[in-house]
Amino acid sequence: MGHRDEDRETRTDTADGYGGGRAGGRGPGDGGADAAADRDAAADRDAAADRDAVLAPLDDRLDDLVALYEDLHRHPELSFQETRTAAEVARRLSSWGYDVTTEIAGTGVTGVLRNGSGPVVLLRADMDALPVTEGTGLPYASTVPGVMHACGHDVHVSCLLGAADLLAAGRARWSGTLVVLFQPAEESGGGARAMLAAGLYTEGIVPTPDVVLAQHVAPFGAGLIAYCPGACMAAADSLEITFHGSGGHGSRPETTVDPIVMAASFVQRVQSVVAREVAPGERAVVTVGSFQAGDTANVIPDRAVVKLSVRTFDETVRSRVLDAVDRIARAEAEASGAQRPPETVVLDAFPVTFNDARTLRQVNSAFTGLFGEQRLFAYDPASGSEDAGLLATAAGAPLYYWWLGGWDPEAFHTAFAAGRLAQDIPSNHSPRFAPVARPTLTMGVQALTTAALSRLEAR
Ligand SMILES: [Zn+2]
Ligand SMILES: [Zn+2]
Repeated sequence: MGHRDEDRETRTDTADGYGGGRAGGRGPGDGGADAAADRDAAADRDAAADRDAVLAPLDDRLDDLVALYEDLHRHPELSFQETRTAAEVARRLSSWGYDVTTEIAGTGVTGVLRNGSGPVVLLRADMDALPVTEGTGLPYASTVPGVMHACGHDVHVSCLLGAADLLAAGRARWSGTLVVLFQPAEESGGGARAMLAAGLYTEGIVPTPDVVLAQHVAPFGAGLIAYCPGACMAAADSLEITFHGSGGHGSRPETTVDPIVMAASFVQRVQSVVAREVAPGERAVVTVGSFQAGDTANVIPDRAVVKLSVRTFDETVRSRVLDAVDRIARAEAEASGAQRPPETVVLDAFPVTFNDARTLRQVNSAFTGLFGEQRLFAYDPASGSEDAGLLATAAGAPLYYWWLGGWDPEAFHTAFAAGRLAQDIPSNHSPRFAPVARPTLTMGVQALTTAALSRLEAR
């Protein structure tokens, strides 16, 4: 599969190391090295001048962006219900000259800015909030009972709108096609998939991108960016499997096919997948979190329903584990003499979020040029999951997804020094999750804009 080939290529690339420096830079012993060095230096200066010119209006736009962020935070919307947010996004994109499509998979919005020849760069934000009751006490806390932007997707929307504004205003400085995409339902896992199924690329709603870029706000100091090469987030698959038996009286099991025994055998046996079919160095988790069958003691029901969750960090391991789960479910049904094979419904499916090494290196080089090396740090893979990667794999394009610091740096350092990060710095999805707006939005807009410019062509 294309995806795996891509993985292999980028892993080879990772093995080479990524010591920074310009992509396509000179190797030792190149002829005409001095002339090439001069050209590189001149190109760097031009790129920095273009970037600075595009970013220049940010200072003036920041008050408006903070107001937008606080407004979005006050009015959070759950997955696939992001109508108010989507309307605001569409209104702004249209006013800046984007070719806007709305109501993709319900509430998804895209904006396309065709600006001459060059690559197609897609920037992505998610829009949904969570069923969490806000406990921040902020003056702009949620006004919707039981719903909160506790994962910072309001930061993502605000930053992407900020970058879309700057890149449109500064279009004389770059060439190519910019796609900005605001997706519904990242939390429930269906948003990116639903937009793809609605024909995002296949129906030409947006041109197929050459690269997909996205960021997520996280609880470390504002002003920092964290990156993780390769697999940076787990794949997560949730399945519902229905085992079909044949019901009857509890006193006469010989006249039935008992789905409880069938499903119980499955639950036991499926635990052997990680223990016996996954290598010790590979990581996988299989958890059965729900088992439902029957209503009373003396009736054998006609079906049992099992829900399970699978987490993996590698697409090959992922398909092997999912195939094994399916094989065991079918085999247990057959072993029990079931008349019908079990039925499996995919409840949600997040791919492995895989950062392409070359893209990461190129964009990080642009980040370093603007922010300096001390504001970038490498980070371990997270066990959470994301669906941004689907937008890249469906296009056969590389992905770079980085973490954006959103916490008050002083509070973070105090907690770190006291060894109290876990207690004092709320994680994403906490009722106390509260990014500091101004520095977080500033760096988030700068990062998206700089990343996009590094992948677009200069004029
Ligand atoms: Zn989340
Ligand atoms: Zn999130």
